Amino acid sequence: MQGLGLNHGGYHGERIDAPAVLRSLVAEAGSHDWRQSEVEVAPGRRLLFLTRPAAEGRPGPNLYLSAGIHGDEPAGPLAMLELVRSDGLPRDANIWLCPCLNPTGFMASTRENEDGADLNRDYREPSTPEVRAHVEWLAGLPRLDLTILLHEDWESAGFYLYELNPDGPSGLAESMIAAVRPVCPIDPSPVIDGRETHAPGIIRPPMDPTSRPQWPEAFWLYQHRTRLSYTIEAPSDFVLSVRVAALVAAVRGAIGKFTGI
Ligand SMILES: [Zn+2]
Repeated sequence: MQGLGLNHGGYHGERIDAPAVLRSLVAEAGSHDWRQSEVEVAPGRRLLFLTRPAAEGRPGPNLYLSAGIHGDEPAGPLAMLELVRSDGLPRDANIWLCPCLNPTGFMASTRENEDGADLNRDYREPSTPEVRAHVEWLAGLPRLDLTILLHEDWESAGFYLYELNPDGPSGLAESMIAAVRPVCPIDPSPVIDGRETHAPGIIRPPMDPTSRPQWPEAFWLYQHRTRLSYTIEAPSDFVLSVRVAALVAAVRGAIGKFTGI
């Protein structure tokens, strides 16, 4: 499988109609027992949250997925739609979904929101309306047993992921790589995004949040809600359907391993 060679200096691949994707997601969520809530974070900017409690009052586990924090990464919201449409998330878990954290970024296909802010650098002392509203919503959630953040990387040669897992080993990183390999190349590079890999496609970055002046979402979650977080990155130089399949496979691989399905 070859990359398209489209991405020079940024993402130049397929775009999505994000409002239409979210309308489809809301419709599918309604027929698969998800509770929906929307928050208007600024005029014209609404964040969608979906929640589904475990069936028959079972205790959990508590799972969290987010996507669409970068507006030039369309595979994440599409993967969310596919996971909901296929009813591919477990019924015996409490699940929280944030399908599109940067709606105005998607309107312009930019990484940043319409004010030029990279939302995934705003979680230490949130100042953007999107991240303020997101953190306020997150603060109402219980401890999360597993969190997976869906992203894309326009520069990468294949799929890869970041693992925050101080209590390891969990084996989820390896399960995700194995699940993705049949549908999308794994980035074989020894250094990805300036960080050494520990195994093909697996980065275990330093976990001291005080070492980073600008926190991504994963650091807020790690500081406040979870001990197990994965940021998964599809290679956005491949066709969009491959990237969506890669993110869906990774999520299913992780949750399957985690819940023993
Ligand atoms: Zn991203």
